[in-house]
Amino acid sequence: MTDCIFCKIISGEIPTKILSETIHSISFLDAFPLAKGHVLVIPKNHYQKIQDMDKDENADLFSLVHAMTSKVDSMTGATLMAIHNGKDAGQEVPHVHVHLVPRSMGDSAGPIHDMFGPASKLSESELDRLFDKLKI
Ligand code: 5GP
Ligand code: ZN
Repeated sequence: MTDCIFCKIISGEIPTKILSETIHSISFLDAFPLAKGHVLVIPKNHYQKIQDMDKDENADLFSLVHAMTSKVDSMTGATLMAIHNGKDAGQEVPHVHVHLVPRSMGDSAGPIHDMFGPASKLSESELDRLFDKLKI
């Protein structure tokens, strides 16, 4: 995609510190890191959402995530792994990317529940409805 920053990184138009490359994926340093060692892992082909990718590309992406996680985790001993899968999920660059962010005690980012308001308790019938809707 011509307008996509990450496609420009893949084509070499935007100079980037590329850390590793596989057949379908690359990893590189985030230009505006949330912590020292913030890494992004992306597919070479442009897809907005994980479910748009084919199985081989998806497996290749998560294999590289697995390899990079050991490296990133060695920075502080704990890693936040995050995917904003679509614009309304907070995705700013519309090209699939996995964030690997070193975490540490007192970094003030907190647990995932801090991103949302208080969690609501669902009734048994609501849980049953969701179960029927989401099970594969
Ligand atoms: P999002 O907000 O879509 O989940 O994450 C996009 C990420 O891309 C952000 O962490 C941002 O810092 C990073 N980013 C944006 N532009 C560039 C760029 O030109 N180069 C690199 N290396 N990272 C970028
Ligand atoms: Zn792209």
